[in-house]
Parts: sequence; C-alpha cells; structure tokens
Amino acid sequence: MRYSKFFGKTRHDPPCDAESINAKLLTQAGFVEKVAAGIYTLLPLGHLVFTKVCNIIREEMNAVDGQEILMPALHPIDLWEKTGRIKTMDDILYKTTASGNKKFVFGASHEEAVTPLAAKYVNSYKDLPMSVYQIQTKFRDEPRAKSGLLRGREFGMKDMYSFHTSEEDLDAYYERALQAYTNVYERCGLKSYATTASGGVFTDNLSHEFSIQTEAGEDTILLCEKCDSAQNLEIAEGNLVEPDNTEKEEEMKEVDVERGFSVADNAKAHDVPNYKILKTVVYEVEEEGFVGILIRGDLNVNDTKLENYFKKKLRSASPAQLKELGLVQGFISPVNNPADISFIADNSIKSVVNFVTGANALNKDLVNVNQGRDFQVKDFADLVEVRAGFKCKDCNNDLKEIKAVEAGNTFKLGTKYSENFGLNFTDQDGKSKPVIMGCYGIGTTRLIGTIVEAYNDDDGIIWPKSVAPYQIYLIGIGANEEADKLYEDLKSQGFEVLYDDRKDNPGTKFKNADLIGIPLRIVISNRTMENDSVEWKLRNESEAEMVKTTDLNNKISEFLNN
Ligand SMILES: [Zn+2]
Repeated sequence: MRYSKFFGKTRHDPPCDAESINAKLLTQAGFVEKVAAGIYTLLPLGHLVFTKVCNIIREEMNAVDGQEILMPALHPIDLWEKTGRIKTMDDILYKTTASGNKKFVFGASHEEAVTPLAAKYVNSYKDLPMSVYQIQTKFRDEPRAKSGLLRGREFGMKDMYSFHTSEEDLDAYYERALQAYTNVYERCGLKSYATTASGGVFTDNLSHEFSIQTEAGEDTILLCEKCDSAQNLEIAEGNLVEPDNTEKEEEMKEVDVERGFSVADNAKAHDVPNYKILKTVVYEVEEEGFVGILIRGDLNVNDTKLENYFKKKLRSASPAQLKELGLVQGFISPVNNPADISFIADNSIKSVVNFVTGANALNKDLVNVNQGRDFQVKDFADLVEVRAGFKCKDCNNDLKEIKAVEAGNTFKLGTKYSENFGLNFTDQDGKSKPVIMGCYGIGTTRLIGTIVEAYNDDDGIIWPKSVAPYQIYLIGIGANEEADKLYEDLKSQGFEVLYDDRKDNPGTKFKNADLIGIPLRIVISNRTMENDSVEWKLRNESEAEMVKTTDLNNKISEFLNN
C-alpha cells in the first residue's frame, strides 16, 4: 500500500483527551479514531491489526473444536428476564424500545442467545460435547470508559460456549480451553498469567482470569517466578515472614499515652516495630452483627478472604457504630472489651509475644498483651492480604507484585443457563438431564490496546511481528524509480509492505515509521544504491545495517519466519 493514498494518516500531536498510552499512540498513529468515550472507529491500520488478532484467536478456538457462528447483537428483552440478568446487570445494559413497543437489550454477553439456540439442536448425549464461538461486538454501559481500547462501551469480543454431559467432561475441555488462551496471548507476543478469579460470596472458584503484565493495568497480581504461577491480590495466599520474636511473656500493664490513631503512631509512641501492635478491626457482618478481627499491625485484612470465611457480606463498622458499641476508635482491644462481640484472629498473631494494644479508653494502651493469657479468640483463620514480601506457599520463593490488565476470562457455568432455558439432553440411561456449560471470553479490541501498552517506547508503537498491520515499512529517499520497483518486487514476493512514497523529508518519514511501529524498516536512496544495497532497521533495535538488494528477499523471509 502506498502511504500517499492511505486513509487515516498519523497526526503531528497526540489527541489532548487521551488518558492512556494505547489511546494516545493508536490515535496519533492513525489506527483508531474516537467517536465518544469508549467508542472507537478502527481505521485501515487498526483494522489490519484487528484482523490478525482475530485470526490468531480463530485458529486457536478451531484447534479446540470450536465452531464459528455469528449471533445477533440485539436480544429480545424476555431472554434477559428469563436469566434474571436484566436486574443483576442492569447498571451496564443498553436497552432500546423498537416499533410495536418491543423491547430489546444490546448484547453485553451471549448466554441469553446461545443457550436457547443450543436447545434447538441438542437432544441426546450423542449431540455432546459441542462448542461454538463468535467474534462479535459487545455493548456495556461502562462508567469508567477512559482507558482507550482497554475499557470500551462498544467493543470487540470473542466468546465461546461449550456444552457437556458431565462435570468431568467440562473439566477436561476447560483445561484445553485454558491452554488455547495461553497460546493466543503468546502468539500476540504477550506473557499471560491465569489466575483463579476471586470467588466472592456467591460463587466457588469456578473461573479464571488471564492477566497481562503492564503498568497501565488496574489489577494487582502476585507472581512466583520460580513456580511461574500468579494469584489475584484479592484472594492471594502466601507464607508470612515470621518476626524474630523470642522474648518471654512479661506482665501486662496499662500505660498512659498521647498518640495518633495509626499503627505507625502507635509503634512510635511505644518504640516497638509495627508488627508488635495488635490491630483490631471491627466489621459488621450481614445477619450476624459485629465481630472483631485481630491481625498484626504491619499487615492488613483481606476483605474477600473475610467474606469467604463468613460466607456473608460485611463492611467495616462506621465511627458512629463503634461509639454505639462503647468502643474508642484507635484504642480498641480484645482485652476486657466492653462490647459483646467475638474475636476472630488472623494466623499471624500466633507468633508474636508481648503485643501493644489499646485499652478501650482514650489515651490508654496495654503493653505485654499475650493471646491465651490476656484475651481469647473464637477462631483463627487466614485473613491476611498477601503482598510483595510474602513467600510463595508452594516453594517459599519471594512473591512479586505486578500491575496487570485482565485480557480474558473463563467460567464454568454449570447448569444455570441450561435450567433457565430448558436446555436438556437424554442421557445413555434414558433420563433427561440439564446440559453443563462453560464460557470463554477474550476482548479482541482490548487485546490490541494491551499489546500497545506492553510494546511501545518514546517514539511510538513496537508491534510484534504476528499482529503488525504490515511487515515492512519501505521508505524511498530520492531514487524514486528504484523505490517504486523495489515496492513492486516485495509485493510480488507476498510481503506486506507499507510504502512511504510521499515527497516529505526523510526525517518526517523516519518519525512516521517509528510512530506506526511496523517491525522492519527498509530505506532505499541514491546513496544506498551506489552499493546495490538498502538500509535495514528493526523497530525494536537501534542500529541499522546495509543489506545487498540481491540478499534482501532471503533475509526478509528469514526475519519473518523467526
Ligand atoms: Zn513458588
């Protein structure tokens, strides 16, 4: 393609309203154009990348026996009423009323479309297992649509749905799907980590998230590089580094103190390390009332673990609630606690001797407080928020904290949707049973944004070869005839070439090449032709080299195939 004829050229400056690297670079380099927050047009360059990303996904889904279909974006509202998601997803659903007062939902996901579809074709165990997918557009009224292609209101997605006769069959297929996902990211040049998503109160661990490391990520994950495993911060487990605390239990004493409310203030006032402060956090647990959670001062309670422990919703007690309970904020302690509440302790408090804690009165603390002797707990549990500094629970290696983007997720749906839509099959024993389902999503446009977040420098995008819009950016400087001929030659060899044939100065063309980020730049000029050569430079390397024109085709093929 000749760049002079190209629709959607680079801009001199990035758009002033771009709040993320991917939005800034993709817009400035002419890949996308914003229509509204979270709504983008893919220009020719963007569409070329999109097509390559989709083809990689398509090949990997076909490899796990996925069959491609295309479902509608508009769904009659009664389908969503049947599953109850018209209510549970109400805040993000776009709805519309058509002629005849017919109501529709814009598909935010397609369980409501695919399950009744499967019900029309699946009758017997002989029809299963079966898996279908589509590459399609989704609509979600996203309140925080400001991360370019990372978070859209209208966005591309591949969603696959699998149908099985048994949990075992779903489990086996799910493993294959996880591998297919890993392959997709790897082929797009990305290192992915599959983490078990936070179960929360209402589900068990039946889903996985795929996280890609990038600074722009909104998620925090904890890595063990030795095990090559990752955990979501929300539910991460790890081994605590125990303090060196071998002293004997001393006599408990009440002391007067002037201090602030924080753990650091407290530790400073008593001249002890933070871990020796016994921290008490009071929560209100749904239907159970108030409970005190005890943890070492240098650690924090993980709310998701706490919800999973109680299997109830909960929230921190407000200052007003504490007052009502007769507790003094900043000086709460399980020793002689005036409120009638029970205490659950994180395992971390077991190994500390002679804690410092409040005395349930303003400006009064207790020192040399010991569990068992001075206060009792109802139960111990793992309630700690695991951060960098903890050790891997499997190999005891240091855990590392990284920022990540969620680039895909997979769920074992079980029979929820089958039951909603009467999707049953007749098993070998002649009985009718609900079909067991799984679903698997990858945001296609989000993946493009993620790749740009992972691959860029001060000059622009650096596309991995597999998804670059073109393989070669050809620049002619003078030597117009030779440049035209080289362009035709390269094209006839089947290479994907973007030919900057404009009359601009070389500097402009070089800047353009860097901004667009095509992997290989070839420059032909009168000077290079004196040696029957061209200048060869890779976007991710700083040095250029000269290559004889007679060697060029082989060298390009070699580069592209490696
Ligand atoms: Zn490990």
